[in-house]
Amino acid sequence: MPAFRAARGTRDLLPDETPRWTRLERLAADLATRYGYRRIETPMFEQAAVFERGVGEVTDIVEKELFRLAPRTDESEAWSLRPEPTAGIVRAYLQHGMQTWPQPVRLAERGPMFRYDRPQAGRYRQFSQWDVEAIGDAGPAIDAELLELATRFYREAGLTGVEVWLNSIGDQNCRPAFVAELTAYYRAHLAELPELERDRLERNVLRLPDSKDPRMAALNAAAPKLTDRLCDACAEHFAGLRAHLDALDVGYRLEPGLVRGLDYYTRTTFEFYVTGREGQQQAIGGGGRYDGLVELLGGRPTPGIGFGIGIDRLILALAETGAADATAGETGPVAVVVGADPEDTAARLRVATDLRAAGIAARADLAHRKLGKQLEAAVRDRAHFAVIVGDELADGELALRDLAAGTQKLVPVEDLAREVGRAHAAHRHGSIEG
Ligand code: AMP
Repeated sequence: MPAFRAARGTRDLLPDETPRWTRLERLAADLATRYGYRRIETPMFEQAAVFERGVGEVTDIVEKELFRLAPRTDESEAWSLRPEPTAGIVRAYLQHGMQTWPQPVRLAERGPMFRYDRPQAGRYRQFSQWDVEAIGDAGPAIDAELLELATRFYREAGLTGVEVWLNSIGDQNCRPAFVAELTAYYRAHLAELPELERDRLERNVLRLPDSKDPRMAALNAAAPKLTDRLCDACAEHFAGLRAHLDALDVGYRLEPGLVRGLDYYTRTTFEFYVTGREGQQQAIGGGGRYDGLVELLGGRPTPGIGFGIGIDRLILALAETGAADATAGETGPVAVVVGADPEDTAARLRVATDLRAAGIAARADLAHRKLGKQLEAAVRDRAHFAVIVGDELADGELALRDLAAGTQKLVPVEDLAREVGRAHAAHRHGSIEG
């Protein structure tokens, strides 16, 4: 047993796994550019109040899962690792005067989030999200733009069978009456409520229709639905969103119980699932409109909407649907520089350095071992070429061995990079066509 291990709920991503991540990160960056969402990076920790106020005190995320950092002195502020990116991005929007930029401000962020939750499959204490936000547009067209973008991301990632679950949770005009009606409904069924839900009833009744507890299923199916009670403005917004989604051919499923765990949502809320994988820890993304959040964090009223896609769960879903290995495809170095003289590592390193300066992925074998062993290692590395430094170097030549084809020839030192680059490109081209 090693003396130390990665903390519970965290994982090391090993080199065999990282190509999948790199591919999705590149896809996310590329889509953000195509859609005009500019990259932002906010800190991984903030004043805890940003989340307490922004996410809401009576939410699982703040009550149970906030990763608080112990203050070092009595005077120091209360900090917390970020459980989600939106509150921090809105904090940055206000701090940097983005209200004066052309609206909406379209932003995208990628990075780790932290929740002190009980770890299990698909639920980690550190996980990665791709997050996209549009601040300063009341929608509904922008809501549709974001939903279409999210579905495109899944599709281009290679995931099929993604469902959009959609709801409107109203606003400060229609929600209070609904909350009262919902509270009355569940109070009338108090005896049927599991203890946790009974507790939530008095503190945040909107969490109940969203409960994944099977004992709540029948009760929730019969519960009053906010979608039937939206005020005119919210109903019009929701109808507008649906018309835009139809125009973009984005399919969705209406889910009146979908309220999401965060307090700041208004109107549009949504989550993404893979058909047949719809359990509690299986949402592969979600988001919604947060027209009250900017004001909550001290700005003037400004609408906003965004989504977060969980990259860890997306990678799990890709693996389970068998689509993962469209994603791998990382090969070894193009060339490994080996040498006939086991001791002369300087010459090998020199040749490899020149190849790398010319843009070629090359490594030198730096072990003091026989040529045969060096060549075996190059084959194991799946290198395309071995460059052999030998006596010919005195005449300005190196042996270039094509490990795939089993051929070898002498090449002048000054031509090596060009020759390797040309042959490698021709080989790749051939294998793509073939
Ligand atoms: P949420 O804000 O909780 O809806 O999170 C957005 C997305 O992030 C979810 O749909 C998941 O894909 C992902 N996610 C949330 N919490 C976790 C977690 N503890 N571990 C892994 N992924 C998570």
